[in-house]
Amino acid sequence: MGIEEVECPKCGKSAKVRSYSSINLTEKPRMKKNIIEGKINSTKCHQCGTKMNLHSHILLSSLEPPRWIWLVSKKHQKPSYQQELFEKIAPQISISSIPQQMAFVDFGEPCKGLEFILNDKEPKCCEEWLELGKIQSGHDAVESYKSALRIDQRNVEAKKLLNDELDKLKTYT
Ligand SMILES: [Zn+2]
Repeated sequence: MGIEEVECPKCGKSAKVRSYSSINLTEKPRMKKNIIEGKINSTKCHQCGTKMNLHSHILLSSLEPPRWIWLVSKKHQKPSYQQELFEKIAPQISISSIPQQMAFVDFGEPCKGLEFILNDKEPKCCEEWLELGKIQSGHDAVESYKSALRIDQRNVEAKKLLNDELDKLKTYT
């Protein structure tokens, strides 16, 4: 953790922000709440109110059991991103030895879907499966949308999201 200075892209005013590139959830379990409420990696310009994010991804780790969760900016949400991140950013050694997950979020906004990932909770209704699917990508998202449809097979949004995701996967492979 450190203090970083960011410059507003709109008015140029700079602001000092507490910045994390990784968070150990075993040491700081209370951070989970801040993460779910969208209180990390984002600030608003004091002068003009423009939202500013610091990092495009943040690594969350926990020790029992060992697990890494990559929080990634929504702008990267596509099936190929996991491979890109593993090739360019993740330490090679970690990929084979630590289970890794990815969640795509809009930093600065609350994200209910993260509750299922951070608290290891299984979604219970169609809407919850959709919330989870929307922060996933590729096969993970497909599985969540299918689970939503198993509960409510007539849900129009789930059908659309499932088809969109399958299309994206087709272009990717
Ligand atoms: Zn500004």
